[in-house]
Amino acid sequence: MTIDYKCARCFNVFSDRHFFGYVNCGYCGEEMVICDAVNIEYNNNYIRGYCLNCDNDTTVYKCPKCGQFINAKLFDKT
Ligand SMILES: [Zn+2]
Ligand SMILES: [Zn+2]
Repeated sequence: MTIDYKCARCFNVFSDRHFFGYVNCGYCGEEMVICDAVNIEYNNNYIRGYCLNCDNDTTVYKCPKCGQFINAKLFDKT
């Protein structure tokens, strides 16, 4: 059984994930964008993410409040 949490700041629902971040892909919609969760805090909470499904890359943002990962290109819809 997996317990899901929901963050009040970024509205993400997430489970325990520590070493890699997974976010939804803006191209294919799958939650298969992987990023390096260990080093992201040394990059102003932004790091390059790479979709394992469709091979597109994107920018992943780590929420400083809950530690969850977000696809920054989805988050900043303009
Ligand atoms: Zn959050
Ligand atoms: Zn994709």
